[in-house]
Amino acid sequence: MRRRWDAARVAVVLMAILVAGAARAEVEEPTPRSDLAIPDAARPGPGFDVESATQAYLATLGDADRARSDAYFEGGYWLPLVGLLYDLAVVALLLELGISRRLRDLGERAVRWRFVQSTIYGAALVVVAAVLELPLAFWVGFVREHAYGLSNLTAGAWAVVQVKGLGASLVLAPPAVAVVHAVVRRRAGRWWIPATATAMVFLVIGLVITPVFLAPVFNDYRPLRPGPVRDAIVSMVRANGIDAEDVYWFDASKQTKRISANVSGALGTTRISLNDNLLREASLPEIEAVVGHELGHDVLHHIGKMVLQLALLMAAGFAVSQHVYARLLRWRGLRWGLRDGGDIAGLPLVALLISAWFVVMTPALNTIVRTAESEADLFGLNAAREPHAFASVAVKLASYRKLAPTALEEAIFYDHPSGVPRVRMAMTWFREHPDAGAGGTRASPP
Ligand SMILES: [Zn+2]
Repeated sequence: MRRRWDAARVAVVLMAILVAGAARAEVEEPTPRSDLAIPDAARPGPGFDVESATQAYLATLGDADRARSDAYFEGGYWLPLVGLLYDLAVVALLLELGISRRLRDLGERAVRWRFVQSTIYGAALVVVAAVLELPLAFWVGFVREHAYGLSNLTAGAWAVVQVKGLGASLVLAPPAVAVVHAVVRRRAGRWWIPATATAMVFLVIGLVITPVFLAPVFNDYRPLRPGPVRDAIVSMVRANGIDAEDVYWFDASKQTKRISANVSGALGTTRISLNDNLLREASLPEIEAVVGHELGHDVLHHIGKMVLQLALLMAAGFAVSQHVYARLLRWRGLRWGLRDGGDIAGLPLVALLISAWFVVMTPALNTIVRTAESEADLFGLNAAREPHAFASVAVKLASYRKLAPTALEEAIFYDHPSGVPRVRMAMTWFREHPDAGAGGTRASPP
């Protein structure tokens, strides 16, 4: 009885922190820079050459900045593997010390209804896993980001983000765990098909609610204020058949120095969000180039297509995991206190197997995403007609993504094209449209 009280109190405190965090502070929308520098070798003229223009853009990144960006990005190659080994240690602790089994028993003692038992187990696991994963999360999300000058968070603010994340996980994950468990429990030996179907349903629900309920927990999202930036974007948005209301900006600089923008949502909640670092550090043509890219994701239905591609990868992952899990269960299930294939206490092990699958599938997953990103780049060039601005942004993104990798590095580790193919694509487009962009005539309506 006392235990349940404690859980309720923790929940109330977490909700209070979430509500406090959602209180809106007034912030001013940043104004874009007015300059867009074009290297001499990239200017239009009879001697224009795509390769020379591309190299001229790449050379605008200083040696020190380039070395730092290379080191940061190359260090990131190891993170999935480090994360997986860390997870392996966490899961070993949960199973070998009988923690997972005890969390299951806790739920079973508290209530009789299976669904609620699974929910309690899910909530307890979320908390225990968050605590055990904290050291790695701190190193990756705070120490490493600060070491490369990419984070704006104080340690206290970082902790608040973690608590908010934990709160959101506590609201969303336990019911999802309970539903998945209810679906797969009776199919102890053959659960990969129902597990994939249920996971995809939750993925779509997650996509739909993210911009409306989840993203606002961490940042303030506001419609762009009336003015030249909004006018230019709304014009592009209208020209490409998208609802003009759905463009927002948000205060990402609270957390990070990165410039970025994204398309989020699905089934009616789709929107484009620009981060304030982009609004502050880019010129209007650069913002248009970025928005053109984001419009491409929307018009080309990338979210829907990626969900389907992910479903195939996930189905294969669940099938492999089901097979390996059955063997592990025979090997050591008794020692871990797992009763059968449908025992929820085995969840950490299943989750570990799925993560391992996706680490192995990193090149496939990255190539799926990178291909869509490249399509969006081309769409953006045609929509914004700002090849120089696009090239300039591609170089700016090198603050956190290695500018010029080898072909193999790009194939394995890049979920976006690197700077080189992006700048080359822009300069190739410019060669065929020498009048467009940066002082030339723009083909947008007045
Ligand atoms: Zn993109």
